[in-house]
This record gives sequence, C-alpha cells and structure tokens, in this order.
Amino acid sequence: MFNKLLKIIREAYQEESGFIPLHAPVFMGKEKEYLNECIDSTFVSSVGKFVDLFEEQVASYTNSKFAVACVNGTNAIHISLELLGVKNNDLVLTQPLTFVATANAIKYAGAEPVFIDIDENNLGMSPEVLATYLKENTTFRSGICYHNLSGKKIAACVPVHVFGHSCRIDEILEICNRYNIPVLEDAAESIGSKFKGRHAGTIASIGVLSFNGNKTITTGGGGIILTDQELLGKRAKHLTTTAKVPHPYEYFHDEVGYNYRMPNINAALGVAQMEKIGLILENKRKLASYYANEIKALDGVNFFVEPINTVSNYWLNTIVFNDPLDRVKFLEYANANGVQVRPSWKLMNELPMYKNCYHSALFSAQFLVDRMVNIPSSFNKEFSSK
Ligand SMILES: *Cc1c(COP(=O)(O)O)cnc(C)c1O
Repeated sequence: MFNKLLKIIREAYQEESGFIPLHAPVFMGKEKEYLNECIDSTFVSSVGKFVDLFEEQVASYTNSKFAVACVNGTNAIHISLELLGVKNNDLVLTQPLTFVATANAIKYAGAEPVFIDIDENNLGMSPEVLATYLKENTTFRSGICYHNLSGKKIAACVPVHVFGHSCRIDEILEICNRYNIPVLEDAAESIGSKFKGRHAGTIASIGVLSFNGNKTITTGGGGIILTDQELLGKRAKHLTTTAKVPHPYEYFHDEVGYNYRMPNINAALGVAQMEKIGLILENKRKLASYYANEIKALDGVNFFVEPINTVSNYWLNTIVFNDPLDRVKFLEYANANGVQVRPSWKLMNELPMYKNCYHSALFSAQFLVDRMVNIPSSFNKEFSSK
C-alpha cells in the first residue's frame, strides 16, 4: 500500500524521483512587478496603496464588509479576541486539533484555552460535545457563562476550519448564542472554503485568515481580520495601528495599541496572489479529486473529503489509515523516499504549556491524530494544462 501511495503522489506531480514538498507557494502572476513598484514608491512599510488594495480584494472576494490586514494570522486572532472582549483570567473554548497559534493567541489575550473535542467528519469543533460541555460544566448568570470548576468567565469560542474543511459553524454559533459567548472563526487555513455558500471566516461576527508562506496564497507573512460589523472593523484597524488618533502631524494614541499592521511590501505580494486565487483553488480541487479517485482503490486507507454542504479549498490533502501503525510506517517510508508527508499537529493538551488546561473527553481528536497524514498538496503544473 505504501508503495502505491507514493506512486499516486509521484504520478500527480510527474516527478519520478525528485523531492516533492508538502506545500510550496506558487508565483505565476504579477508578484515581481508589484514588488518592484512597491520598492520604487519607497512605501514599503505600514502605509501604501497595496495594503488598501489587498484589503479591498479580500473583502470583496469573501463578501466581507471589513478586512483589516495584519502582520500574521496569529496576531490577527489575538486582536480579534480583544475585540470580542476577552480579558485576563477568562477562559476561551477552542479545539485540541489545531496549529499552536490558536492556543497561543488565546494566551496573549490573557485567557486560558479549554479544549472541546472535534467532529470526525470535518475535524472542527463538535457542536454536540460543545453543547454537552457547556450544559454540564457551566452556569449562566446575568448574561454571562461561568465555568463551574474555576469560576472563570467563558469569554469566547474559537472553532477552527482545519486543512480547509469547514466545521459546523452554524450549529456552533447557535449554541454559543444561547450562552452569550461570542465566536471567532479561525479560518487561517481556509481562504476560499465555503460553508453553505458563505466564505469560511465570514459566518461568525469575526474571522481570521492567514497568508503565511505555507498557506494557499501568501504575503510572505500575513493575516487578515474579517467582519461585517463596522464597530469591530474600525476598532481592529485602530488597535493594529498603535491606536493612533488620525491627525496630520500630532502623535496621540488613546490606548495601548499594537504595531500589527501588514507592511505594504507584503501586501504587494498579496495583491498579485489574490489575482490568481481562482486558478490556484481550481487546480487544488483537481489534485484533491485525483487523489480521492486513486486512493479509493486502496485498502486500509481513506482520503478525507469535504463535508456535505461545504466546499473545501483542500489546503492540505489528508489521508486516514485504519491502523495507527501504518501511519507511523508511512511517515517514515515517504519522508525517507523524498515525498514530504506530515502527521497532523500534536493535540494542544499534550504540549507542556497547555497540559493542565480544561478539556472535554477527546476521543475523536485522539482517534484521528493517531491515523491522519497530510500528503503533498501544492499547486500542480500537471493539472493546470488539463
Ligand atoms: C497558520 C495558522 C494560524 C496562524 O497564522 P500565522 O499567519 O502563521 O501566524 C492560526 N491558526 C491556524 C489553524 C493556522 O493554520
């Protein structure tokens, strides 16, 4: 089976023996032209036309009223949590299966993460486990949800759209609304993914995308905050730009702000990337559908497909072995043979800084982490001509 899997991957990229990375950025548009233009203008830093352009592009593409570009996805999450009112000593619900940035950003906001198990069909937070956890472990008093054991306020909930697959965000929102818990969508991996026709990151009152070098499109490093609410959008811009009150020459800052604004030079790259997003996503879907077809024929392993009522951007293609031992063996075998494959992240509650955090039972997360492997998912030249 391992040999067949490698053959399927190598055939996809028409690469008989060379190294195949897990995910590489693709520059096939006006990246160099815009970067040169940016340098020639001397506006390479936190002001310039490309930042504004990039924000407009992403807002219009995702149908979001406001888009605020940040230095990276992690600090976009941090700011968003502050916007939702998360404070020192609060608790924030999230999931154990995510990139460490989600939990770290919760810590930066002064809160502690609480890990809620995932749904095996989409890898996002399970609405059933969330509802049960809230019912059994919290008390709702004067419009605030308190965690019984710690007495702390549950100040926000951060479900994640993992590998581009949408979580059941509508049900999560419905449950959180009942407890007056604001929701932030960590859609860092999910530009272009849709849940019931709406873009990932635009369904809750606030959402975040990332443009790190390993994501579907990149600005080198970068993130963006999406919201339809003017108050949140304006405050996001204010907090990410040192809370400076606009004035032609005076420096007046009305609170402790952050220097989290995306530099113009990064946005220049982003504008060129956004111009090709349709092509990139279409190409990634072709690759995913090729994998799905080929892997169907193999015993002992399944290809993870997009959940119903959603469109996945298939950021990282994922296979799931029946036997956990096969996962370990395949990781060894593929990496030793020049095909970069990765296990999913370690569950957050297994990392030293988060091992004492509260969590629900984590059966599904544990089951999947023991069986999942991400396989090469870059834009594929072979599929662009077909
Ligand atoms: C990449 C990622 C982030 C952080 O984004 P950066 O731009 O790398 O800071 C946050 N959450 C998830 C789920 C991610 O995959």
